[in-house]
Amino acid sequence: MLNLRPIIIRYTFKDGTVPMQGKLTGKVTKSTRSQYQVYVDNRMLTCVVRGKLVGLKESDISSIKVGDDVVVELTGETEGVILDILPRKSKLSRAVEGKAYKEHIIATNIDQMVIISSTKNPAFKAGLIDRYLVIAEKNDLSAVICLNKIDLAEAEQFEEYATTYRALNYEFFYTSVLTGQGMDHLHDILKNKLSVMVGQSGVGKSSLIQKIEPGLELAVSETSEKTSKGRHTTSYVELFPLSFGGYIIDTPGIRELGLWDIYRNDLRKYFVEMVAVQENCQFGDCQHLLEPGCAVKTAVEEGQIFPERYKNYTNIYQDLRAASYELIKRR
Ligand code: GDP
Ligand code: ZN
Repeated sequence: MLNLRPIIIRYTFKDGTVPMQGKLTGKVTKSTRSQYQVYVDNRMLTCVVRGKLVGLKESDISSIKVGDDVVVELTGETEGVILDILPRKSKLSRAVEGKAYKEHIIATNIDQMVIISSTKNPAFKAGLIDRYLVIAEKNDLSAVICLNKIDLAEAEQFEEYATTYRALNYEFFYTSVLTGQGMDHLHDILKNKLSVMVGQSGVGKSSLIQKIEPGLELAVSETSEKTSKGRHTTSYVELFPLSFGGYIIDTPGIRELGLWDIYRNDLRKYFVEMVAVQENCQFGDCQHLLEPGCAVKTAVEEGQIFPERYKNYTNIYQDLRAASYELIKRR
Protein backbone atom coordinates (compact mmCIF):
# COMPACT_ATOMS: atom_id res chain seq x y z
CA MET A 1 0.00 0.00 0.00
CA LEU A 2 1.20 3.48 -0.83
CA ASN A 3 1.98 5.81 2.00
CA LEU A 4 0.74 9.21 0.89
CA ARG A 5 1.54 11.13 4.03
CA PRO A 6 3.97 13.97 3.38
CA ILE A 7 7.51 13.15 4.35
CA ILE A 8 8.78 15.57 6.93
CA ILE A 9 12.51 15.80 6.91
CA ARG A 10 14.18 16.76 10.14
CA TYR A 11 17.88 17.17 10.31
CA THR A 12 20.58 19.32 11.81
CA PHE A 13 23.64 20.63 10.11
CA LYS A 14 27.10 19.58 11.20
CA ASP A 15 27.60 22.91 12.91
CA GLY A 16 24.45 22.31 14.94
CA THR A 17 22.36 25.06 13.36
CA VAL A 18 18.67 24.49 12.93
CA PRO A 19 17.82 23.70 9.35
CA MET A 20 15.53 25.73 7.17
CA GLN A 21 12.02 24.47 7.10
CA GLY A 22 8.78 25.16 5.36
CA LYS A 23 8.46 27.71 2.61
CA LEU A 24 11.40 29.99 2.00
CA THR A 25 12.19 32.76 -0.40
CA GLY A 26 15.38 32.58 -2.38
CA LYS A 27 17.02 33.79 -5.54
CA VAL A 28 17.63 31.82 -8.72
CA THR A 29 21.34 32.04 -9.46
CA LYS A 30 21.62 29.62 -12.33
CA SER A 31 19.29 27.61 -14.48
CA THR A 32 19.80 24.56 -16.57
CA ARG A 33 17.24 22.77 -18.61
CA SER A 34 15.21 21.42 -15.73
CA GLN A 35 17.03 22.45 -12.58
CA TYR A 36 17.60 25.71 -10.81
CA GLN A 37 20.18 26.77 -8.30
CA VAL A 38 18.42 28.80 -5.64
CA TYR A 39 20.31 30.74 -2.99
CA VAL A 40 18.45 30.77 0.31
CA ASP A 41 19.85 32.00 3.61
CA ASN A 42 23.48 31.50 2.65
CA ARG A 43 22.87 28.07 1.21
CA MET A 44 22.65 26.89 -2.36
CA LEU A 45 19.77 24.58 -3.16
CA THR A 46 19.19 22.55 -6.26
CA CYS A 47 15.55 22.94 -7.15
CA VAL A 48 13.03 21.60 -9.58
CA VAL A 49 9.63 22.95 -10.44
CA ARG A 50 6.51 20.95 -9.93
CA GLY A 51 4.32 23.44 -11.68
CA LYS A 52 1.31 21.27 -12.27
CA LEU A 53 1.10 20.44 -8.61
CA VAL A 54 1.07 24.02 -7.45
CA GLY A 55 -0.82 25.68 -10.27
CA LEU A 56 2.01 27.39 -12.10
CA LYS A 57 1.36 27.73 -15.80
CA GLU A 58 3.75 26.13 -18.27
CA SER A 59 4.68 29.62 -19.47
CA ASP A 60 5.57 30.67 -15.92
CA ILE A 61 7.84 27.71 -15.50
CA SER A 62 9.68 28.19 -18.75
CA SER A 63 10.13 31.82 -17.87
CA ILE A 64 11.91 31.36 -14.57
CA LYS A 65 15.06 33.39 -15.02
CA VAL A 66 18.29 33.98 -13.23
CA GLY A 67 17.60 36.75 -10.73
CA ASP A 68 14.03 35.72 -10.01
CA ASP A 69 12.95 35.56 -6.40
CA VAL A 70 11.11 32.32 -5.82
CA VAL A 71 9.29 30.54 -3.04
CA VAL A 72 10.76 27.12 -2.41
CA GLU A 73 9.94 24.22 -0.22
CA LEU A 74 12.74 22.03 1.03
CA THR A 75 12.72 18.39 0.03
CA GLY A 76 16.17 17.60 1.35
CA GLU A 77 19.22 19.19 2.87
CA THR A 78 20.20 20.85 -0.38
CA GLU A 79 17.16 20.18 -2.53
CA GLY A 80 13.90 21.95 -2.96
CA VAL A 81 10.87 22.53 -5.12
CA ILE A 82 9.98 25.91 -6.59
CA LEU A 83 6.39 26.75 -5.73
CA ASP A 84 6.00 30.31 -6.87
CA ILE A 85 7.73 33.24 -8.56
CA LEU A 86 7.59 36.66 -6.95
CA PRO A 87 6.90 39.76 -9.05
CA ARG A 88 9.89 41.15 -10.93
CA LYS A 89 11.35 44.57 -10.26
CA SER A 90 13.30 44.81 -13.49
CA LYS A 91 14.73 42.80 -16.33
CA LEU A 92 17.61 42.97 -18.72
CA SER A 93 16.62 41.76 -22.13
CA ARG A 94 17.42 41.92 -25.77
CA ALA A 95 15.56 41.24 -28.96
CA VAL A 96 16.09 37.88 -30.55
CA GLU A 97 16.79 37.79 -34.23
CA GLY A 98 13.98 36.22 -36.16
CA LYS A 99 10.87 36.86 -38.19
CA ALA A 100 9.32 39.00 -35.49
CA TYR A 101 10.60 40.78 -32.44
CA LYS A 102 11.01 38.31 -29.63
CA GLU A 103 12.25 39.28 -26.23
CA HIS A 104 15.01 37.28 -24.63
CA ILE A 105 15.32 37.93 -20.91
CA ILE A 106 18.93 37.68 -19.80
CA ALA A 107 18.30 38.22 -16.11
CA THR A 108 15.75 39.80 -13.79
CA ASN A 109 15.69 41.98 -10.71
CA ILE A 110 18.93 43.70 -11.54
CA ASP A 111 19.43 46.73 -9.33
CA GLN A 112 22.21 48.39 -11.21
CA MET A 113 24.74 48.29 -13.97
CA VAL A 114 28.28 48.92 -12.80
CA ILE A 115 30.25 50.22 -15.74
CA ILE A 116 33.98 49.67 -15.31
CA SER A 117 36.40 51.74 -17.34
CA SER A 118 40.10 52.43 -16.93
CA THR A 119 42.35 55.47 -17.13
CA LYS A 120 44.95 53.66 -19.24
CA ASN A 121 45.64 50.20 -20.65
CA PRO A 122 43.07 50.24 -22.16
CA ALA A 123 42.58 53.97 -22.62
CA PHE A 124 39.52 55.71 -21.24
CA LYS A 125 36.67 55.62 -23.74
CA ALA A 126 33.66 57.77 -22.97
CA GLY A 127 32.01 56.46 -26.13
CA LEU A 128 31.89 53.00 -24.66
CA ILE A 129 30.49 54.28 -21.37
CA ASP A 130 27.73 56.02 -23.29
CA ARG A 131 26.91 52.80 -25.09
CA TYR A 132 26.51 50.96 -21.82
CA LEU A 133 24.42 53.83 -20.48
CA VAL A 134 22.10 53.48 -23.46
CA ILE A 135 21.61 49.81 -22.59
CA ALA A 136 21.01 50.71 -18.95
CA GLU A 137 18.47 53.39 -19.87
CA LYS A 138 16.72 51.13 -22.32
CA ASN A 139 16.32 48.51 -19.61
CA ASP A 140 15.44 51.04 -16.92
CA LEU A 141 18.48 50.12 -14.85
CA SER A 142 20.33 52.61 -12.75
CA ALA A 143 23.99 52.87 -13.64
CA VAL A 144 27.20 53.81 -11.88
CA ILE A 145 30.54 54.47 -13.52
CA CYS A 146 33.74 53.23 -11.95
CA LEU A 147 37.00 54.54 -13.36
CA ASN A 148 39.66 52.02 -12.40
CA LYS A 149 43.48 52.19 -12.57
CA ILE A 150 43.47 55.70 -11.18
CA ASP A 151 46.99 54.92 -9.93
CA LEU A 152 48.14 55.25 -13.53
CA ALA A 153 46.86 58.79 -14.03
CA GLU A 154 45.81 62.03 -12.38
CA ALA A 155 42.16 62.29 -11.43
CA GLU A 156 42.11 65.92 -12.64
CA GLN A 157 42.34 64.64 -16.20
CA PHE A 158 38.91 63.07 -15.81
CA GLU A 159 37.14 65.65 -13.71
CA GLU A 160 35.24 67.00 -16.69
CA TYR A 161 33.73 63.56 -17.27
CA ALA A 162 33.09 63.11 -13.56
CA THR A 163 31.20 66.41 -13.45
CA THR A 164 29.26 65.63 -16.61
CA TYR A 165 28.11 62.18 -15.57
CA ARG A 166 27.33 63.22 -12.02
CA ALA A 167 25.19 66.05 -13.34
CA LEU A 168 23.24 63.42 -15.28
CA ASN A 169 22.71 61.51 -12.02
CA TYR A 170 25.15 58.75 -12.81
CA GLU A 171 27.51 58.14 -9.97
CA PHE A 172 31.14 58.40 -11.08
CA PHE A 173 34.02 57.31 -8.87
CA TYR A 174 37.63 56.25 -9.03
CA THR A 175 39.24 52.98 -7.96
CA SER A 176 42.63 51.35 -7.95
CA VAL A 177 43.15 47.69 -7.26
CA LEU A 178 46.81 48.52 -6.77
CA THR A 179 46.49 51.19 -4.05
CA GLY A 180 43.06 50.22 -2.74
CA GLN A 181 41.63 53.66 -3.49
CA GLY A 182 37.85 53.63 -3.82
CA MET A 183 37.53 49.96 -2.93
CA ASP A 184 35.43 50.66 0.15
CA HIS A 185 33.09 52.71 -1.95
CA LEU A 186 32.77 49.96 -4.56
CA HIS A 187 32.03 47.57 -1.72
CA ASP A 188 29.22 49.87 -0.49
CA ILE A 189 27.85 50.19 -4.01
CA LEU A 190 27.67 46.42 -4.44
CA LYS A 191 26.37 45.61 -0.97
CA ASN A 192 22.87 44.12 -0.89
CA LYS A 193 22.31 44.83 -4.57
CA LEU A 194 22.20 42.72 -7.67
CA SER A 195 24.77 44.25 -9.97
CA VAL A 196 25.73 43.54 -13.52
CA MET A 197 29.35 44.48 -14.17
CA VAL A 198 30.25 45.55 -17.65
CA GLY A 199 33.31 46.97 -19.30
CA GLN A 200 35.90 46.38 -21.93
CA SER A 201 38.38 43.55 -21.53
CA GLY A 202 41.41 44.53 -19.47
CA VAL A 203 39.88 47.39 -17.47
CA GLY A 204 40.16 45.31 -14.29
CA LYS A 205 36.78 43.70 -13.67
CA SER A 206 38.21 40.39 -12.47
CA SER A 207 40.83 42.15 -10.35
CA LEU A 208 38.22 44.38 -8.69
CA ILE A 209 35.98 41.44 -7.90
CA GLN A 210 38.91 39.41 -6.59
CA LYS A 211 39.84 42.26 -4.29
CA ILE A 212 36.27 42.76 -3.06
CA GLU A 213 35.49 39.09 -2.67
CA PRO A 214 38.67 37.02 -2.53
CA GLY A 215 38.07 33.53 -3.75
CA LEU A 216 35.31 34.43 -6.13
CA GLU A 217 36.53 33.57 -9.56
CA LEU A 218 34.32 34.81 -12.33
CA ALA A 219 34.62 33.83 -15.92
CA VAL A 220 34.22 37.54 -16.67
CA SER A 221 33.63 37.12 -20.31
CA GLU A 222 37.15 36.75 -21.66
CA THR A 223 36.59 33.53 -23.55
CA SER A 224 33.22 34.61 -24.79
CA GLU A 225 34.66 37.83 -26.05
CA LYS A 226 37.30 36.10 -28.08
CA THR A 227 35.10 33.41 -29.53
CA SER A 228 31.72 34.92 -30.07
CA LYS A 229 32.08 38.64 -30.38
CA GLY A 230 29.36 39.97 -32.59
CA ARG A 231 27.35 36.79 -32.50
CA HIS A 232 24.05 36.89 -30.74
CA THR A 233 24.33 33.61 -28.94
CA THR A 234 22.41 32.80 -25.84
CA SER A 235 25.15 32.60 -23.30
CA TYR A 236 24.86 31.20 -19.85
CA VAL A 237 24.17 33.62 -17.08
CA GLU A 238 25.11 33.11 -13.46
CA LEU A 239 24.71 35.06 -10.26
CA PHE A 240 27.38 34.99 -7.60
CA PRO A 241 26.34 35.76 -4.03
CA LEU A 242 28.62 38.17 -2.22
CA SER A 243 29.58 37.28 1.34
CA PHE A 244 28.62 40.78 2.53
CA GLY A 245 25.23 40.67 0.83
CA GLY A 246 24.24 41.16 -2.76
CA TYR A 247 25.02 39.44 -6.03
CA ILE A 248 27.20 39.98 -9.02
CA ILE A 249 26.01 38.72 -12.33
CA ASP A 250 28.48 37.27 -14.73
CA THR A 251 27.10 37.30 -18.19
CA PRO A 252 29.31 36.86 -21.18
CA GLY A 253 26.18 37.63 -23.15
CA ILE A 254 26.26 41.24 -22.09
CA ARG A 255 28.95 41.90 -24.66
CA GLU A 256 26.87 40.56 -27.45
CA LEU A 257 23.92 42.45 -26.08
CA GLY A 258 25.27 45.33 -28.07
CA LEU A 259 22.89 47.94 -29.28
CA TRP A 260 21.62 46.20 -32.32
CA ASP A 261 18.04 45.88 -31.11
CA ILE A 262 17.68 49.59 -30.57
CA TYR A 263 16.01 51.55 -33.35
CA ARG A 264 17.95 54.64 -34.27
CA ASN A 265 14.83 56.72 -33.87
CA ASP A 266 14.60 55.61 -30.26
CA LEU A 267 18.20 56.38 -29.38
CA ARG A 268 17.46 59.97 -28.30
CA LYS A 269 15.23 58.60 -25.53
CA TYR A 270 18.26 57.14 -23.80
CA PHE A 271 20.27 60.36 -23.52
CA VAL A 272 18.67 61.92 -20.48
CA GLU A 273 20.00 65.44 -21.09
CA MET A 274 18.47 65.44 -24.58
CA VAL A 275 15.12 64.31 -23.26
CA ALA A 276 15.24 67.26 -20.87
CA VAL A 277 15.36 69.86 -23.67
CA GLN A 278 13.74 68.14 -26.66
CA GLU A 279 10.34 69.74 -26.12
CA ASN A 280 11.90 72.98 -27.30
CA CYS A 281 12.93 71.52 -30.66
CA GLN A 282 11.04 72.97 -33.60
CA PHE A 283 9.97 69.52 -34.77
CA GLY A 284 8.30 67.08 -32.45
CA ASP A 285 10.14 64.13 -33.96
CA CYS A 286 13.50 65.92 -34.07
CA GLN A 287 16.45 63.51 -34.14
CA HIS A 288 18.77 66.35 -33.10
CA LEU A 289 20.93 65.91 -36.18
CA LEU A 290 20.38 68.21 -39.17
CA GLU A 291 16.96 69.60 -38.30
CA PRO A 292 16.56 73.37 -37.97
CA GLY A 293 15.50 74.81 -34.64
CA CYS A 294 16.99 71.94 -32.65
CA ALA A 295 17.13 72.74 -28.94
CA VAL A 296 19.62 69.94 -28.32
CA LYS A 297 22.16 71.39 -30.75
CA THR A 298 21.63 74.82 -29.23
CA ALA A 299 22.25 73.35 -25.78
CA VAL A 300 25.47 71.75 -27.07
CA GLU A 301 26.62 75.07 -28.55
CA GLU A 302 25.78 76.94 -25.39
CA GLY A 303 27.59 74.42 -23.23
CA GLN A 304 24.59 72.97 -21.40
CA ILE A 305 25.12 69.60 -23.04
CA PHE A 306 28.62 68.08 -22.96
CA PRO A 307 29.82 68.08 -26.59
CA GLU A 308 31.38 64.63 -26.34
CA ARG A 309 28.09 63.12 -25.21
CA TYR A 310 26.41 64.64 -28.23
CA LYS A 311 29.22 63.39 -30.48
CA ASN A 312 28.78 59.90 -29.04
CA TYR A 313 25.06 60.15 -29.71
CA THR A 314 25.69 60.88 -33.39
CA ASN A 315 28.27 58.07 -33.60
CA ILE A 316 25.94 55.53 -32.05
CA TYR A 317 23.13 56.78 -34.26
CA GLN A 318 25.27 56.10 -37.33
CA ASP A 319 26.02 52.59 -36.11
CA LEU A 320 22.36 51.89 -35.58
CA ARG A 321 21.41 52.92 -39.07
CA ALA A 322 22.33 49.62 -40.68
CA ALA A 323 21.06 47.53 -37.81
CA SER A 324 17.66 49.20 -37.88
CA TYR A 325 17.50 48.81 -41.63
CA GLU A 326 18.29 45.13 -41.25
CA LEU A 327 15.52 44.73 -38.72
CA ILE A 328 13.02 46.51 -40.91
CA LYS A 329 14.05 44.54 -43.98
CA ARG A 330 13.48 41.24 -42.24
CA ARG A 331 9.89 41.96 -41.28
P1 GDP B 1 39.24 42.39 -16.95
O1 GDP B 1 39.52 41.89 -18.30
O2 GDP B 1 38.35 43.59 -17.01
O3 GDP B 1 38.70 41.35 -16.02
O4 GDP B 1 40.63 42.92 -16.36
P2 GDP B 1 41.65 42.19 -15.37
O5 GDP B 1 41.11 42.17 -13.99
O6 GDP B 1 42.05 40.89 -15.96
O7 GDP B 1 42.88 43.21 -15.38
C1 GDP B 1 43.66 43.45 -16.53
C2 GDP B 1 45.04 43.92 -16.12
O8 GDP B 1 44.97 45.17 -15.45
C3 GDP B 1 45.74 42.98 -15.17
O9 GDP B 1 47.08 42.88 -15.54
C4 GDP B 1 45.58 43.65 -13.81
O10 GDP B 1 46.63 43.34 -12.95
C5 GDP B 1 45.61 45.12 -14.20
N1 GDP B 1 44.88 45.97 -13.25
C6 GDP B 1 43.64 45.77 -12.75
N2 GDP B 1 43.28 46.75 -11.94
C7 GDP B 1 44.31 47.62 -11.89
C8 GDP B 1 44.55 48.87 -11.21
O11 GDP B 1 43.71 49.39 -10.46
N3 GDP B 1 45.74 49.49 -11.44
C9 GDP B 1 46.68 48.95 -12.26
N4 GDP B 1 47.81 49.64 -12.43
N5 GDP B 1 46.50 47.80 -12.91
C10 GDP B 1 45.34 47.12 -12.73
ZN1 ZN C 1 16.35 68.48 -31.72
